[in-house]
Amino acid sequence: MPRISISSLIAFLLAFFTVATCQAASIIVDAGHTSAHPGATGASGRVEHLYNLDLSKAVTEDLQAAGERVVRTGADDREIGLADRPNAAPNADFFISIHHDSMPQAWIDEGRNRLLKGFAIFVSERNPHYEQSLVCAKTIGERLLAAGETPSLYHATPIKGENRPLIDRRLGIHRFDDLVVLKTAPMPAVLVEAGVIVNPDEERRLAQPATIAKLANAISNGVVDCHP
Ligand SMILES: [Zn+2]
Repeated sequence: MPRISISSLIAFLLAFFTVATCQAASIIVDAGHTSAHPGATGASGRVEHLYNLDLSKAVTEDLQAAGERVVRTGADDREIGLADRPNAAPNADFFISIHHDSMPQAWIDEGRNRLLKGFAIFVSERNPHYEQSLVCAKTIGERLLAAGETPSLYHATPIKGENRPLIDRRLGIHRFDDLVVLKTAPMPAVLVEAGVIVNPDEERRLAQPATIAKLANAISNGVVDCHP
């Protein structure tokens, strides 16, 4: 009968318990808006929801490849209320809503739409897990920066309807306490505006499969990095 040393037995048990305790997280990946109410309209006329669907699908696939369990919301043709999105799987560990940004119509009319580009990340202090939401916003922001993306900072502009308190300028993280999907989420939650689709140059870039893959990789790695 082969002899098993105490040290190899301990190594085996440690490896076993490491695998057993490092469980996959369950994550809700939300595609912002719906087919009937598709959100912003890009410079080309293509609507935001379609960009959100493409990027949220890529994020989902990356998270699944990393061993996470994913529930998608906003990804079929049905209408879904804002509070129903994070509550579609109330026991999930994390909620992320994917959006693409616009800007005030007056700015577009003034020809300023080529001036804005980049991402923005939102958290709500009314979420019951605000601190953990902020940790995740930071890991996602770090990954986006590392991927060569830059924050737009547009939502901090002191104009009506914006003027969001900037928590972290370098990482483009804003507080938006009344965002319904964030404040009604029973789990840590963030909303990511991946880029500005009313900027025609930015829109073209955001539509490219290579950009979608790069953004999805950064976002999904940021989510994995912030596991509670
Ligand atoms: Zn949106």
